[in-house]
Amino acid sequence: MCMSTDKQEPKKIIPIQAVPAEASEEMVSLYAAAKKIYPRSVEGIFAYWRWVMVAITQIVFYGLPWVEWGTRQAVLFDLEARRFYIFGLVLYPQDFIYLTGLLVISALALFLFTAVAGRLWCGYACPQTVYSEIFLWIERKIEGDRSARMRLDDADFSLKKLSKKTYKHMAWIVLSLWTGFTFVGYFTPIQELFATALAWNFGPWQFFWVFFYAFATYGNAGFMREQVCKYMCPYARFQSAMFDHDTLIVTYDAERGEPRGPRSKKTDLAVANLGACVDCTLCVQVCPTGIDIRDGLQYECIGCGACADVCDTVMEKVGYAKGLVRYTTQNAMANKWTTQQTVMRVLRPRVLVYTSILMAIIIAVGVSLAVRTPFKVDVVRDRATLARITEDGGIENVYRLQVMNASEKDKTFQLSVSGMQGLKIETETEVKVASAQSHWVVLRVTIPYGSAEAGSHKIVFDIQDASGNDVIHEKSVFIVPR
Ligand code: SF4
Ligand code: SF4
Repeated sequence: MCMSTDKQEPKKIIPIQAVPAEASEEMVSLYAAAKKIYPRSVEGIFAYWRWVMVAITQIVFYGLPWVEWGTRQAVLFDLEARRFYIFGLVLYPQDFIYLTGLLVISALALFLFTAVAGRLWCGYACPQTVYSEIFLWIERKIEGDRSARMRLDDADFSLKKLSKKTYKHMAWIVLSLWTGFTFVGYFTPIQELFATALAWNFGPWQFFWVFFYAFATYGNAGFMREQVCKYMCPYARFQSAMFDHDTLIVTYDAERGEPRGPRSKKTDLAVANLGACVDCTLCVQVCPTGIDIRDGLQYECIGCGACADVCDTVMEKVGYAKGLVRYTTQNAMANKWTTQQTVMRVLRPRVLVYTSILMAIIIAVGVSLAVRTPFKVDVVRDRATLARITEDGGIENVYRLQVMNASEKDKTFQLSVSGMQGLKIETETEVKVASAQSHWVVLRVTIPYGSAEAGSHKIVFDIQDASGNDVIHEKSVFIVPR
């Protein structure tokens, strides 16, 4: 047993100071009122591509419902008739698998583009960015650029201020209503909807959806703007899981830019101990989410490249090399890679895996659409009439068949049944179905009495189109009563 001979030091008594009661009652508010952001207009290569994307997405969105395909609207999701038309394709709810395929393709494409070039979708094609950009353009045309808008908001009430604000909101409301109307035009034939709108004769659902979508556009693009990206969009939160050090992001070259500070054109940077950043804050002023890219990668950054554009103009003016703020990767920045080296790193395993899976699914969905049978059949046993003995001594079961013509031509279908001895259809075996329509038929199917044991027997309906090229086999059961 080991006995310690060390003497223990006497414990020090630390006096406890009384805390004033008021200190413990101090309230800390976690709420911070949103500051209005006044993005400055910017020109440059990324701004150009953003406007190209605005033009493409909006020409497609506003124009597509007006395109005709034969005698109908080319793209129409007719929920009431449960038919979805996409140019030559006629889809039924039973084709839900293609929608699933489309969603999987969209998700994988998002993963791929994010792994390659960060928030490309957010910065250039997301409806929130696109409509905020259009609304901002209207705002600039009526109220002026950043400083003019700030002055106007700070100014006291005047007739000039009222008229500018009124014009702006009127323009926003007209655009929002047109957007809501176009959106509903994808679900209701838009020509009829337009006539209804002119006669101010909307049904309750049309009225609700046009105004709901218009209200959402007006609110999100006119007022919420960057707050949707910062606080409502889940994508901003999980995008970092898809980034790695070879993902292209908008980055400030701190090594080159710091120490930042104002200077004249003639200043010797080495003598003045200055980097390339002139601290003009223009990159902050053009940012639609109001952040400072010089603080590093932030989740609020939507990767729009506005700060890179404006910084390039500044660099040009002061006579420095462009690219102080640029699209690059963390690895390229750390290792000082050339553009070619950076681009080569794009083809990394992760990107190749995403690309291969994406291509495989696109091909699978494309092939399955190309070879799909241009009609569908649903067989439902008539539960009201289980099985009965007919006057001529047979046993009869009744079925309801829904034949859906998913082509643009009227078609005739031949029906037959097999699976039991003496099984035959007593009703009409030929069904005519108009193009893109469906038709219910009632089938009476019989067997001779005593030809099968009591119980449930598997049978198969064969539905063949008149050309004989396509056949669908639908399983069902035939009940023989005891
Ligand atoms: S725009 Fe460029 S130079 Fe001006 S503050 Fe931003 S990073 Fe610095
Ligand atoms: S930091 Fe630059 S790229 Fe990011 S949102 Fe702001 S302006 Fe766009």
